[in-house]
Amino acid sequence: MLQPDPTQPPRDIIIVGAGLAGVPCALSLCRELTPYVPDLKIRIIERNEVLSTSGGAINLSPVAQRHLAYLGVLDELNRMGTEGGADVDEIELFSSRSGRSLGHLDFNDQEGNGYGGYRGRRVMRIVLLMAMVNVAERARNIEVAYGKKVISGEEVNDKAVIRFEDGSMDTADLVIGCDGVHSATRTHWVDPDRPSEYTGISFIQAVVDAENITSHKNFRATSVNFSQHGALLMSYCDRDRQEIFASAMMEFNKDALQHFQITRGQSWATKTHIQTVLHETVMKRFKNSAIPCVREMVHKDADWMLYPIYQVPPGGQWHMSRVVLLGDAAHAMPPWYSSSSFALDDAICFSRVLARYRLEPLDVVFDIYDRLRRETVNRAFKESSRMCSLMKETGLLEEWSRERKTSSRLRKHRNDYQNAWKFDATKVAIPKPAQGQDLMTLHSFLEDYAI
Ligand SMILES: Cc1cc2nc3c(=O)[nH]c(=O)nc-3n(C[C@H](O)[C@H](O)[C@H](O)COP(=O)(O)OP(=O)(O)OC[C@H]3O[C@@H](n4cnc5c(N)ncnc54)[C@H](O)[C@@H]3O)c2cc1C
Repeated sequence: MLQPDPTQPPRDIIIVGAGLAGVPCALSLCRELTPYVPDLKIRIIERNEVLSTSGGAINLSPVAQRHLAYLGVLDELNRMGTEGGADVDEIELFSSRSGRSLGHLDFNDQEGNGYGGYRGRRVMRIVLLMAMVNVAERARNIEVAYGKKVISGEEVNDKAVIRFEDGSMDTADLVIGCDGVHSATRTHWVDPDRPSEYTGISFIQAVVDAENITSHKNFRATSVNFSQHGALLMSYCDRDRQEIFASAMMEFNKDALQHFQITRGQSWATKTHIQTVLHETVMKRFKNSAIPCVREMVHKDADWMLYPIYQVPPGGQWHMSRVVLLGDAAHAMPPWYSSSSFALDDAICFSRVLARYRLEPLDVVFDIYDRLRRETVNRAFKESSRMCSLMKETGLLEEWSRERKTSSRLRKHRNDYQNAWKFDATKVAIPKPAQGQDLMTLHSFLEDYAI
């Protein structure tokens, strides 16, 4: 009997953005698809000429660490020595007003072992990106191209076509938009009606030598100190604890943002002026803290930089014809609930779905992926937005009640957090293809069934 010609799996894939979703997505696709598509070709297209050094230090949850280990990035980070990041067993929360502990977000299980052996880690974003790209560059079918800014895309004759700012274009069987919160893949192709929104909250961040903070530190690895005027996070960010990263998270006027961005080409005097005003903004809010190391930190002259927090609210479109959005491009949320984990989860879940449904049309792949991720992402968005609201200005009475609520919520939701740290995207059950022919990949099969 004549069999219908099955759809060919994508062989030529472009990933837009060499960030925390894009590079892991390339690594995960290699792992899942290469056994079945040996001539798989993945191009990561990055707008910057080199990996960006901005962004300060980020916290990796046990879930993010588990997934980075799966992709071979954690070993690479560990090989980077002290720069590979500081271990974080827990995030301790305090009232900046009274110095009182409000509780902690624990990365240890009941036995104090971490989840599957993984706790938290605070690492400079650039170091994490370098570790990811090092691993990607060792894969024979991944290429990274820098200095190519995508401006739009479309489908032409069964191919995805992307266009660059320099006037050139490229084609692929599949485009994966991992180009972050302001994604051009989203706003000029998949979902033009969904621009990013400013949350009203910005982070002002700096790194100082730990030995320059001489007063008693109220934290073992990381603290978040809540006040009426936002919260100040302090954390070690290297394994030898020689550096402290600080992030003042606060309400910041949207109209003022443009005056405080440090950009290339600005004069030294302009940059110094911006950093001085940002420093004063941080000092004004936290200089009266009851916590000595908070007071000392905010008095430090350092390169204070502004990072406005944007979001992409839930409910939008994540895919069409030959293009899908992952990470912040699809669902940027305020960075509390370990947003980078969601970028990694997306990358692994999508690769597994694509591998299992590799002989199905892309719209089936996208639909299964969407159904797998949508609800989890929406829930996380809600929780992140709630935490983000704690950074808003408040009156004295309200601050007191906010502290009490934060404490009791942490206790009440302890189990939810603990369950969240157990999430493993490599184990998420993916439904079988409709025809009943299970196209599970070798890797997924071995891992799903622990063979
Ligand atoms: C101030 C701040 C602090 C944060 N702290 C934490 C934290 O502690 N823990 C945590 O888990 N998460 C944190 N996050 C969130 C986390 O950084 C993001 O969720 C994560 O980076 C999302 O990964 P992504 O790959 O989707 O986007 P990104 O990491 O932003 O990567 C997007 C990439 O696409 C490139 N790009 C953009 N446009 C184009 C284009 N047109 N053409 C080509 N390339 C393009 C960009 O240059 C970039 O390399 C923080 C975010 C911010 C803003």
